Amino acid sequence: MRQEVQEHHALYNDLCSIVGAENVSDEEFVRRAYTRTPVNKVFGVGRGKVPGIAVKPTTTEQVSEIVKLANKTGTPVVPKGGGGSLSAFPPPFVGTDDNILMDTTGMNRIIEIDKEYMRVTAECGVILSQLAEEVRKAGLHLPTVDVPIHMDTLGGVLSGFIGGGEPSDLATSGTMNKYLLGLRVVLPTGDIIYTGGGPGTNIHQSKILHREAGSPDITGMFVADGGAFGIKTEATFEVRPYPMHYLPGVYDMGNWDNLWKAFSILVSIDPYPYTRLMALNDRSGATLVMYVIRAHSEEEMNLRKRVVEETFASCGGKTGGAEVDAGLKLGNLFSARQLGKAVLPRASMMTYFGEALVPRARTLEWLDYLNDYVDKNFQGIRITERVDFALPYLRAMCVTGILMYFGKETPADQVAKVVYDFTVNEFHKTLFQKFGGFTELAQGEGQVESASCWSPAYKSYMTSLKKALDPNNILMPNLWGF
Ligand SMILES: Cc1cc2nc3c(=O)[nH]c(=O)nc-3n(C[C@H](O)[C@H](O)[C@H](O)COP(=O)(O)OP(=O)(O)OC[C@H]3O[C@@H](n4cnc5c(N)ncnc54)[C@H](O)[C@@H]3O)c2cc1C
Repeated sequence: MRQEVQEHHALYNDLCSIVGAENVSDEEFVRRAYTRTPVNKVFGVGRGKVPGIAVKPTTTEQVSEIVKLANKTGTPVVPKGGGGSLSAFPPPFVGTDDNILMDTTGMNRIIEIDKEYMRVTAECGVILSQLAEEVRKAGLHLPTVDVPIHMDTLGGVLSGFIGGGEPSDLATSGTMNKYLLGLRVVLPTGDIIYTGGGPGTNIHQSKILHREAGSPDITGMFVADGGAFGIKTEATFEVRPYPMHYLPGVYDMGNWDNLWKAFSILVSIDPYPYTRLMALNDRSGATLVMYVIRAHSEEEMNLRKRVVEETFASCGGKTGGAEVDAGLKLGNLFSARQLGKAVLPRASMMTYFGEALVPRARTLEWLDYLNDYVDKNFQGIRITERVDFALPYLRAMCVTGILMYFGKETPADQVAKVVYDFTVNEFHKTLFQKFGGFTELAQGEGQVESASCWSPAYKSYMTSLKKALDPNNILMPNLWGF
C-alpha cells in the first residue's frame, strides 16, 4: 500500500531546529487561524494572507535566528501580537503567500518590576491586562489600553495604531509609548540591540533608566513602525504610584457651545485638573460632559474637583438629579462590552462610526461631516441610539466619532455594508486629506492613505531608512509602499 507523505514547508525543518517542533506549524488550519481579525466577522472580508508557516519563538535569540534564516531564503516575516488590529485589511495583508507568521505571544514573561527605580521590564508578547495587573499589585500604575486589554500584546500595541494605544486615561496620560524608556529589538538583519540609556549605550549599565541618556533617541523609530523596522522582544517603562482615589462626575452643559468653551479652558490648564473627560451629545437635547478624577489623596482630589466644577459652572453647566441619570445612561452605552445584553439588545449591532484622531479645533466639523453621512446613507436602517462623542488626547487632539446602536430587526450585513463602503471609500481620504487627522497608520487603508500624505523628502528619508535597516526587505514588505 502506498503511504501518503505530507510535504512540509521548505523552512519547516530549519525552524523546528530553532524553536522545537511544538512551536512550528505548516498545517493549513493553523495557518488559516492566524488570518482571523476582529473586523472579519463584521465586514466578511479582510482576512490577511494565509502565511506559509507559523512559528512561535520564546526567546529573543530564537527571533534573531528566524530572521537570519528569512534573510538567507528571502522569505517575508510578519510579526503578530494579539491580532487586535481593527483595520478591514489587517497587518498580515503584507508580504507574499510564503510569509513566515511570527507569533510573539510565547515571549510573555514580566522580567522585573523595579519599585526602587519605578520601572517595569517585560517581554513584548505579554498580554496587557496581565502586565497591568502585576504592576498594580506592586502598587504602581502603567497606562495600557482601554480595550482590548485582554487581547493586545505589549509589542503589538507599541508597533500598531498610534504606537501605544489609547488607555482609558488617554486625555491626560497620552499613549503608552510616553512611558517607554527603551526596547530590546531584533533588527531586520537579525542583529539584537537595546535602545534607551542602558546596556545598549553603556555596556557597564545593566538597566534601562533613561530614554535619551546614552544616544540620540532611536527608541521612537520603533514605535508605531508596524513591525517594519524590527521585532520588539522586550520593553522597559517608567511606572508611577497607583492613584487610589477615584471620582466620576457628570454635567449637563445645555449646548455644544457651552461645552466646547469649558473643554477648551480645561485642556489648557496645567496640571490637568481631570484625569478623563468625555463630551456626549445624544441628539435628543442632552449635551453632557463626563469626567473622572484619579488622585493620590482626598485633598488632591477635592482641589481638582473644585477646578473642574467651577469651570463647568462658569460655562453654564448644571449637575445633579436628572442630568446625572441621563449621563449614566449614556455612559452605560459605552460600557456595552462589559454590560453585554443589558445594554445591547439581542441580535442588534453597534459601531463607533468614523472614530478617529482629529485636531481638537476641527472636532465639531468632523462630527458634522459624520452626521451628514449618517443622515444620507443609513436611510431605512433603524438607529436606536446615536451619540456624538469626543474626548481629548492631551491638549491638541481629540478622539471623536458617533456611537450607534441599530434596531434588532436590522440584518447585520445591511449595517456592515454601509460601514464598509464608508471605511474603504470615504473615511481615510476625508480624514487625512481634508481634516489633517489620523487613524491606524500601520494597517489597511490607513497605511495606504497615511503614506500617500508623506512629503517627498519624508518619503525619501523613510525609504532610505528602511533600505539601510532591511536590505532584503524581509520585515513587513509592502507596508507604506516599501
Ligand atoms: C474591539 C477593539 C477595540 C479597540 N479599541 C482600542 C482602544 O480603545 N484603544 C487602543 O489603543 N486600541 C484599540 N484597539 C486597537 C488595538 O489596540 C491595536 O490595533 C493594537 O495595535 C493591537 O495590538 P496586538 O497585540 O493585537 O497587535 P497585532 O494586531 O497582532 O499587531 C499590530 C501591528 O504590530 C506588529 N507587531 C506585533 N507584535 C510585534 C512585535 N513584537 N514587534 C514588532 N511588530 C509587532 C504587527 O505586525 C502589526 O503590524 C481596539 C481593537 C479592537 C479589536
